[in-house]
Amino acid sequence: MSITPNTDPYALADEISGRHMIDGALRPAASGAVFNVVNPATGSVIGSAAEGDADDVDAAVKAAKRAQKEWAALPARERGKLITECGRRLSDHVEELGRLIALETGKALRTESRVEASVLADMFLFYGGLASELKGETVPFRPDMLTMTIRQPIGVVGAIIPWNVPMLLMALKIAPALVAGNAVVVKSAEEAPLTVLRVVQIMNQVLPAGILNILSGYGPECGGPLVAHPDVGKVTFTGSVETGRIVTRTAADKLIPVTLELGGKSPMIVMADADMDKAIAGALGGMRFTRQGQSCTAASRIFVHADIHDAFVARLKAAVNDMVMGDPLDEKTDIGTIISPQQLEKVKAYIEAGEKAGGTANRCAKLPDDPALKKGLFVQPVIFTDIAPDAPPAREEIFGPVTCIFRFTDYEDALARANDSEYGLAATIWTRDLKTALDASHRLEAGFVQVNQNLVVQANLSYGGIKSSGVGKEASLEAMLEHYTHKKTIILNMG
Ligand code: NAD
Repeated sequence: MSITPNTDPYALADEISGRHMIDGALRPAASGAVFNVVNPATGSVIGSAAEGDADDVDAAVKAAKRAQKEWAALPARERGKLITECGRRLSDHVEELGRLIALETGKALRTESRVEASVLADMFLFYGGLASELKGETVPFRPDMLTMTIRQPIGVVGAIIPWNVPMLLMALKIAPALVAGNAVVVKSAEEAPLTVLRVVQIMNQVLPAGILNILSGYGPECGGPLVAHPDVGKVTFTGSVETGRIVTRTAADKLIPVTLELGGKSPMIVMADADMDKAIAGALGGMRFTRQGQSCTAASRIFVHADIHDAFVARLKAAVNDMVMGDPLDEKTDIGTIISPQQLEKVKAYIEAGEKAGGTANRCAKLPDDPALKKGLFVQPVIFTDIAPDAPPAREEIFGPVTCIFRFTDYEDALARANDSEYGLAATIWTRDLKTALDASHRLEAGFVQVNQNLVVQANLSYGGIKSSGVGKEASLEAMLEHYTHKKTIILNMG
């Protein structure tokens, strides 16, 4: 059976509305409840999602538990081949998934949504090919004893994801977990439940029933019971620090492992000798204004050497002013919308707080004038200059299109200020001097440091934060081995 791609996102949203995927079948919530899914560019309802609760969690976890033993008993390469086949099928759906995620989240199709859909398949192709790396070791001990380790799956993994890059963040979790022989129950974000459901539906054409399940619903009512369920042996979570703490407390009561990918306030340091063109392009990409700054790795604190500060700010403002804000599905659009009215209010409050604290809010790009978008959740990107380092937008994660630019004269001072944050997700430094680049790479407190470029998540590169930005790594072989298997030691006495 093969699902035909449907590139009409309105029709597709309607088609898959109102259901979870449990045990290989789309089905409504046990309670029958649904909630609306809204297009943030117009405010109109495009569909609905099943409102999951503890009963749905129980049904999904039971199905996963039933299916997992047989899945784990398959030769690892057989599982790998099926995950690779999922990747192939997903690559046939790039346009469809890109259009649906643009409609659902307001991320522009050309600059963000199609990109997310096109890198999705790669995660499955990468992990599918790694199945034969689920190896143990033989350990020297005594000649009459064979001492070895093997890797075994954990069982049922609970995965909780946010709305900003939901397909990719889900793939980072389910691809390694499934290849390692686990079954997975995903809880999608309430703001973006449809596209990830479609991804899981496509994958369920290939996978045995029950191996990959997805529930939609609210955090405490659906995510909470998933973490607490006695048959869930591992939780992998991406979202806010606050929720990460709640998830960890529940997991601690059960003594199960948790992987956390949390927030960020990522610094970018631009030295006086930096290649200006590259640094401007890097800042434009790093700020993620094309995603309305709704990125955990967004370069939200930019430290620019005083010698080039004014030129840098002028060029950056001009570049953002050239960006087109509008209908996310329009190919001309660079910047789409904020995800929800609550998030829009939060962003506006931070801008106001920054201005109250004496910062200069440089508002860039033009709001769309299309009457069809008048209820859309648009906000002009803001580049703050001359802002106090302790003003709220300079210290706290906003998750919106707001960046603060600071002036520095001394490298040590810039480094200290860059590290003066509770977060430690990503950091970049821009310089032509190799010694400075290497020194900063070692001393910047972040899980991911890049020199003269900004973040590219790669399937084979470890990704994850330190400090309040998270616990554990995603992507890479290491993530599959360390986070989705148990290492068992075996001693065979042949004496
Ligand atoms: P959030 O914490 O509000 O929600 C994330 C998920 O957790 C959602 O699915 C939500 O329903 C669920 N949830 C909420 N309360 C819960 C509870 N009590 N128990 C279980 N689950 C619960 O975060 P958000 O607003 O959706 O996402 C934005 C945050 O995610 C930002 O802080 C951002 O930095 C972070 N993020 C981090 C990364 C990363 O890789 N480090 C990537 C993307 C987003």
